[in-house]
Amino acid sequence: MLNEKSNNNVTVNQMPESKEEQKDRLTVIQPRTFQVPVGISNRHVHLSEEHIEKLFGPGYQLTKLKDLSQPGQYACEETVMLVGPKGVIEKVRVLGPARKQSQVEITVTDSFKLGVKAPLRDSGDLEGSAPITLVGPKGTLSLEEGAIIAARHIHMHTSEAEELGLKDGDKVSVRAKGPRGIIFGDVLIRVSDKFKLEMHVDTDEANAVGLRNGDILTAYIHQGHISEILSK
Ligand SMILES: [Zn+2]
Repeated sequence: MLNEKSNNNVTVNQMPESKEEQKDRLTVIQPRTFQVPVGISNRHVHLSEEHIEKLFGPGYQLTKLKDLSQPGQYACEETVMLVGPKGVIEKVRVLGPARKQSQVEITVTDSFKLGVKAPLRDSGDLEGSAPITLVGPKGTLSLEEGAIIAARHIHMHTSEAEELGLKDGDKVSVRAKGPRGIIFGDVLIRVSDKFKLEMHVDTDEANAVGLRNGDILTAYIHQGHISEILSK
């Protein structure tokens, strides 16, 4: 077989390609996959101790309604009203425990109803996020920032991340099958020894695809962001 070196050091085969060679060339490298259950987040608020007192009264403690799937997190009996320049949304669930900084998580649909230009953000990244007003039974709280649309993400225990070769901040793609099936690109991986494997999407994303709580989706681990891969 006659081979010759090209300028960029790639060996160029001068002979017609054999069937075996063609098969090798066309073999798609399979991405690694894992199964992940989905949890659908409705709009909700996380409150600081100070803001709990402002909305519910001095010394007030949140009342646990039920545990959420992530260990230590719970839904509370308490709700607040969200107020924006264009409208209000009543009975928005407070999640516990109290956090260092209050955070209001709404959907794109909610943002239109309220007239609040909430940016798409990872939880906790609140700098420069949207202003919003919360109304509780004992007071009103106007936040200069704190309203976000939470970016979809996968919670994962440290041992699961190790097993899969993933680290906090990595991104994967997740496929949801069905008549309105979709591939969710750039799904953020969040790793902690307090987390349990679960993908969180909001109600807008879930409803667009017809997802139900607990549906099992397939995640694909690949190099780079899916948007970069598709643009090649
Ligand atoms: Zn989450």
